[in-house]
Amino acid sequence: MGISRRKLLVGTGVGAGVIAAGGGATLLTDNLPKAPDSLLNIDALPSDDPTPGWFHTSVKRQPKPALVGDANAPWVVIGGGFSGLAAARQLALNFPDDRVILVEAQQVGFGTSGRNAGFLIDVPHDISAPDYIGDKAIARNILNLNQTGQRILKDLVEEHNIVEAHMRHSGKYQAAVEDSGFAVLDAYRGGLESLGQTCKIIEGKDLPDHLGTKFYRKALYTPGTILVQPSGLVKGLADSLPANVTLFEETPITAVEYEPQIVLHHATGRILADKLILANNAFGTHFGFGARTIFPVFTYGSLTRPLTKAEQESIGGQEFWGVIPADPFGTTSRRTHDNRILIRNSFSFNEDGRHKPGYTQKYRQSHRLSFERRFPSLKDVNFEYTWGGGLGMTRNGSSLFGELRKNVYGSLGCNGLGTVRGTAMGTMLADWLAGKRNDTIDFLLSLPKPEWNPPDPFLTMGVNFTLRRGMHDAGLEA
Ligand SMILES: Cc1cc2nc3c(=O)[nH]c(=O)nc-3n(C[C@H](O)[C@H](O)[C@H](O)COP(=O)(O)OP(=O)(O)OC[C@H]3O[C@@H](n4cnc5c(N)ncnc54)[C@H](O)[C@@H]3O)c2cc1C
Repeated sequence: MGISRRKLLVGTGVGAGVIAAGGGATLLTDNLPKAPDSLLNIDALPSDDPTPGWFHTSVKRQPKPALVGDANAPWVVIGGGFSGLAAARQLALNFPDDRVILVEAQQVGFGTSGRNAGFLIDVPHDISAPDYIGDKAIARNILNLNQTGQRILKDLVEEHNIVEAHMRHSGKYQAAVEDSGFAVLDAYRGGLESLGQTCKIIEGKDLPDHLGTKFYRKALYTPGTILVQPSGLVKGLADSLPANVTLFEETPITAVEYEPQIVLHHATGRILADKLILANNAFGTHFGFGARTIFPVFTYGSLTRPLTKAEQESIGGQEFWGVIPADPFGTTSRRTHDNRILIRNSFSFNEDGRHKPGYTQKYRQSHRLSFERRFPSLKDVNFEYTWGGGLGMTRNGSSLFGELRKNVYGSLGCNGLGTVRGTAMGTMLADWLAGKRNDTIDFLLSLPKPEWNPPDPFLTMGVNFTLRRGMHDAGLEA
């Protein structure tokens, strides 16, 4: 069956990105299905569940008004997540005399970019390679890409004083409970050292001083990861866009025409665009590109209420930390700036990219189990929020970057690490459109195309089988 566990990237740190060997720069549209010239109705619009914890616990902001009637601009970007915010910002800076329209179906901070675990990870992690690094040249390019995304976000948080991002350079622990996990950590340490990256193994007896739990038996600490409150960060990014960006929130694009002119339809009118940038993750496939190459896999998070002082003291450990699992299907956890515990695990294939009723309740049970295993003394601490969010996964871990057809460009399919990769890709796409070239752009242009998947029902059966087996095999790491 098409999708193997070793290729399907998950985790978070939801998988730190496998990029297979890059080929020469080819036009992305080669071998991709052509989008029709006539009116194309968008048959799936974003609809996320109403309980994303980071969104509700970050600053309440006044969303920018939805577009009413018609508009036009030289540049239109669809998608107000990390990729789209970065692309719109950089286009506006590169073309200061042009108006840039950014359209988001929901509110900024409510979609997946505000629903993740908040790990801005620097180091590559190729789960198909024995040392989790694989080809060194590719690994260096991924490191550079991730660090570029980190640097852009760090500079923006400082420049615009986005305090709600709660950005901290805390590093991350990749932690294991089982022998199979130890083997992953040892091999990965070797791989990271061969790449010249600093890392440190911490043995189980020392871990409670770091993480406040005796659950883990070993961890690999890497210092370069930055942790954020993701919804607070993207809200702050939206509110600090350059003056020549016009952001329309709660404005889903419902249909598109590509010829003779790009026309985007929404509830009350149309937007005419000279050039269109798709930065809407797996929903980009509904615009006629990358069908059956980028598919929406959902993963789920829960946040406890803030721990009391007594509860904090009872567990001990540091005041702020983040753990990703050695097994990519395992559990991510964090102690947050406001002393909550975050648990992230479980996956589902939501074919249309929309949330499924009942799924947050279902996965909340798995979160409860994982939480109580790690913090048995906190079994009376309730979850205040449980939510899901869609990843744009590809079979080979690659992304769609560059030209999709005349005057249409894409920054799509960030797999599990879209905070940094989406930011870097969106920025680099805008730079490339302004005629700039650098090593990062060349690397992105050389990415292999996302691989095709078989049609349904085989795709759905294959993804579901892979996810169920992965979650089952994660054992105690879950
Ligand atoms: C629980 C969870 C934990 C995760 N943890 C991490 C982590 O710790 N670190 C990390 O790097 N990544 C993590 N991820 C993945 C990360 O959140 C994504 O890779 C990232 O959000 C991708 O950004 P993006 O801008 O490409 O897409 P998105 O964030 O999906 O943004 C696309 C936007 O397009 C909008 N849109 C779609 N269709 C339309 C339309 N027709 N009209 C208008 N707007 C439209 C959507 O509403 C959406 O807001 C996690 C994800 C989840 C769900």
